[in-house]
Amino acid sequence: MLQDQEANAIQMERTFIAIKPDGVQRGLISEIIARFECKGFKLVAIKLVVPSKSFAQKHYHDLKERPFFNGLCNFLSSGPVLAMVWEGEGVIRYGRKLIGATDPSKSEPGTIRGDLAIVVGRNIIHGSDGPETAKDEISLWFKPEELSNYTSNQEKWVYGVN
Ligand code: UDP
Ligand code: MG
Repeated sequence: MLQDQEANAIQMERTFIAIKPDGVQRGLISEIIARFECKGFKLVAIKLVVPSKSFAQKHYHDLKERPFFNGLCNFLSSGPVLAMVWEGEGVIRYGRKLIGATDPSKSEPGTIRGDLAIVVGRNIIHGSDGPETAKDEISLWFKPEELSNYTSNQEKWVYGVN
């Protein structure tokens, strides 16, 4: 009974995650995907793209007043980015935990940036920072038909839902 109530309370959400050109070039795609996949989150969209500079500026529009904005947009558009949408209960907030603090020198060991990066300008991964940003970033990077709606076989084991 308690299990049924918990099951009914599950709130699925989606977040935008991108492996930046440094993560792709360093061969970290499989390592990073594994962390989201092994946690139990579900992949609903994925593609490798080289964003234009103007697209990068749109993605990072919130940071346009920051001194590193131009270098950041040049970097994001300098090579392939692995753009993804992941789904699961609490995936927006927990995805940020898996990623770790923005500056890898302050990220905890065990996080993606803590384990795999050293400097803030090459911190290998992006993740949406809240529900509104997640919605905006998913629709910036993906067309609705690129998002796969399917039931994962794992769901009943990950969430205890029958
Ligand atoms: N960044 C940087 N220098 C800084 C702060 C941020 O180069 O002093 C870059 C870094 O790549 C970071 C991105 O700008 O991931 C976006 O910054 P934000 O504060 O949104 O961090 P995030 O959400 O990626 O943790
Ligand atoms: Mg951010």
